Amino acid sequence: LLKIEHLTKKFEDNMILDDVSLTVHRGEVIVVVGPSGCGKSTMLRCINALEPIQGGTIEIDGQQISQKSKNLTELRQKVGMVFQSYELFPHLTVLNNILLAPTKVQKREKEEVKKEAMELLDRVGLKEKADSFPRQLSGGQKQRVAIVRALCMHPEILLFDEVTAALDPEMVREVLDVMLQLAQQGKTMVIVTHEMQFARAIADRVIFLEGGKIVEDADPDTFFDHPQTERAKQFLNVFT
Ligand code: ATP
Ligand code: MG
Repeated sequence: LLKIEHLTKKFEDNMILDDVSLTVHRGEVIVVVGPSGCGKSTMLRCINALEPIQGGTIEIDGQQISQKSKNLTELRQKVGMVFQSYELFPHLTVLNNILLAPTKVQKREKEEVKKEAMELLDRVGLKEKADSFPRQLSGGQKQRVAIVRALCMHPEILLFDEVTAALDPEMVREVLDVMLQLAQQGKTMVIVTHEMQFARAIADRVIFLEGGKIVEDADPDTFFDHPQTERAKQFLNVFT
């Protein structure tokens, strides 16, 4: 579903992603871990065509992503992204935040999207918040709305960038539980997180990124119990 080959990304002269190759199959859940500044967010932003790349290719569903591509809007719709900072529109209600892209970009029937949005809100326990504004919600609630908003676009693949990093500990669980549900439903996801227990529980594969390179790519039991590299061992010592 997602195929990254020899991806190179620089900011000015700084090599941020150095010959990164990664294939994600439909239904797979990939967790990306690594030290701060190793390029995790940059990698997700490249997948969503939010960053120009200097080398290599990224394909989704066999279609190559490039900044200049005329069908960038179409490609972006295949990729749903959820950020640490929610990025909800403050002046729109929860429901209107969710309806905006499906009705304006995808030109879908408002009533149909609304029905789906309400079902999804119900599933994450937020049906009664549909008419609230983001400022009236807790961090965990805002993040669940952001996830529903991404889901309502029917993306082929979901990208999560440290979506619980800004949350109080008691709200982390409710967001992680929603992500576990999505994994059980067979959604294809690439997740950047520092929650190692969660990573182990949800991942089909763990990618360890360091210095812009994929240093390890393994199933979670292997990665957490038998890391192959000294760097991964050191990283895990700090985090577990
Ligand atoms: P963290 O765990 O702290 O979120 P990360 O792995 O997500 O880190 P990135 O945000 O991808 O790291 O950043 C990778 C490197 O790219 C860092 O050295 C950062 O300083 C640099 N960088 C990121 N964005 C830009 C930018 N817009 N301009 C220049 N350099 C950038
Ligand atoms: Mg980051």
